[in-house]
Amino acid sequence: MNKQELIDAYEEFEMKYSAYYLAMATMEWDISTTSPKNGKPYAAMRMGVLQGEAFAAMIDPKNLKMLNDLAAIEDLDPLTKRSVTARLKDLAGMQLVPPDRYTYFEQTKHLANHIWEQAKAENNYKLFEPHLLKVIELTKEYYSYYPKKDELYDWMLDDYERDMTTKDYDAFFDLIKEKLVPFIKKVVAAKQIDTSFLHKEYDPIKQRQFMDTIMSYIHYNLDAGMIAVSVHPFTCGLSINDVRITTRYNTHDVASGILSTIHELGHATCMGQFDPKYDGSYIAHCVTSGIHESQSRLLENYLGRSKSFWIPNYPALQALFPENLNSVPLDDFVAAINASMPSLIRTEADELTYPLHILIRYELEKAIFRDQVDLSKLDQIWADKYEEYLGIRPDSDATGILQDVHWSQGSFGYFPTYALGTAYAAQFMKAMRSDLDVDSLLANSQMPVIKDWLKEKIHQYAGLYTPKETLVRVTGEAFNPQYYIDYLLDKFSKLYHI
Ligand code: ZN
Repeated sequence: MNKQELIDAYEEFEMKYSAYYLAMATMEWDISTTSPKNGKPYAAMRMGVLQGEAFAAMIDPKNLKMLNDLAAIEDLDPLTKRSVTARLKDLAGMQLVPPDRYTYFEQTKHLANHIWEQAKAENNYKLFEPHLLKVIELTKEYYSYYPKKDELYDWMLDDYERDMTTKDYDAFFDLIKEKLVPFIKKVVAAKQIDTSFLHKEYDPIKQRQFMDTIMSYIHYNLDAGMIAVSVHPFTCGLSINDVRITTRYNTHDVASGILSTIHELGHATCMGQFDPKYDGSYIAHCVTSGIHESQSRLLENYLGRSKSFWIPNYPALQALFPENLNSVPLDDFVAAINASMPSLIRTEADELTYPLHILIRYELEKAIFRDQVDLSKLDQIWADKYEEYLGIRPDSDATGILQDVHWSQGSFGYFPTYALGTAYAAQFMKAMRSDLDVDSLLANSQMPVIKDWLKEKIHQYAGLYTPKETLVRVTGEAFNPQYYIDYLLDKFSKLYHI
């Protein structure tokens, strides 16, 4: 094929891949939000088949040849070049996996995910354990087809955050351990903040009404999105004009649903602000988990937990729940949504203890893929680590090893990006604050100005740049976790007067 024929073939390939993606993501949305419980296993098995089809289409030797021929063209336009190079990199290991093993792996994960839901509801790890062990075994098998690396886990880490290795994460988590573990002990010993009013009764229907206030404040366009309920909140970007979010409402924890919605709106804002020319292309699909999480955490924590954010929004919440909040001044409310206390559930964790939940999972995953743990004792080892780092021990499977969905989906290597993304966000915030008066914009409901900054600096490029390149482009320097540590120490020293 000549150059133009190759470019045409690539466009056709992108259209096909994005069609598969659209079908699978729509099914995923349906399974997670509206489909009846009993229909899930049937749908999940078919989804596994479809994933296998998409996989086989991607690693088809004809396609691989086309990609390699394109990559070899010297004067290829930079965009296609980038897209093709990124695909080839991601396919380098995948193409070595036999398609039938891939489909089997996908189906096993779907089934494990279904059993996990049941096991969690019944608080019974023993039900899930054989499925988890199978997923671990198949994950090892899957990556065993990839080219050899000293650390098998490095393949998983790289899958979620390009170019990150165990060595990089070790340095990052060592810093977290060294600086935060002793600091959290001081916070625990300090005078505690009253959060009791957040745990009174909050009608979920009224909570949903408040989400309208938040969505309109953030200028989330409901003509290009929607909000639904799911057990685990997530964002589903089908195209830049269809980015949906889910949330959940906890009757006795009003902050949980609000912050979770703001978090997903951060993901949605990112996807909704991609340059339209990337819609349906691989560039739109390869935003790394760390970069994505930096955008959700930035909105949730660095903006959404600030006093300035709540100046225009708190009156609407008070108006919906006068009996719970009319006697609570704004400052007390803001202090309460920022309060820190070691807890068992990662998704409900405060900003300060959150990275320790991730550290625990990172250490466990690393040990699993180094064959350094007795897999029959995973639940106990999980509990031991909580005791070691957070001083508390889960008293049930549901609040321990069963709490997260990720392992049931075979998403090993994903967790570390949550802490990493949060740390990226601290560095992005520093750059944003040097350009904008963020607090005044928030207090005056000028979110579009902040969104424009994010769009110009980060969102418009989607996955065009690697995380390392993005950090340098936006902040002028390489990733520096010290900004994150400094931010946490400064914020919580003030909050707890220590
Ligand atoms: Zn997220």
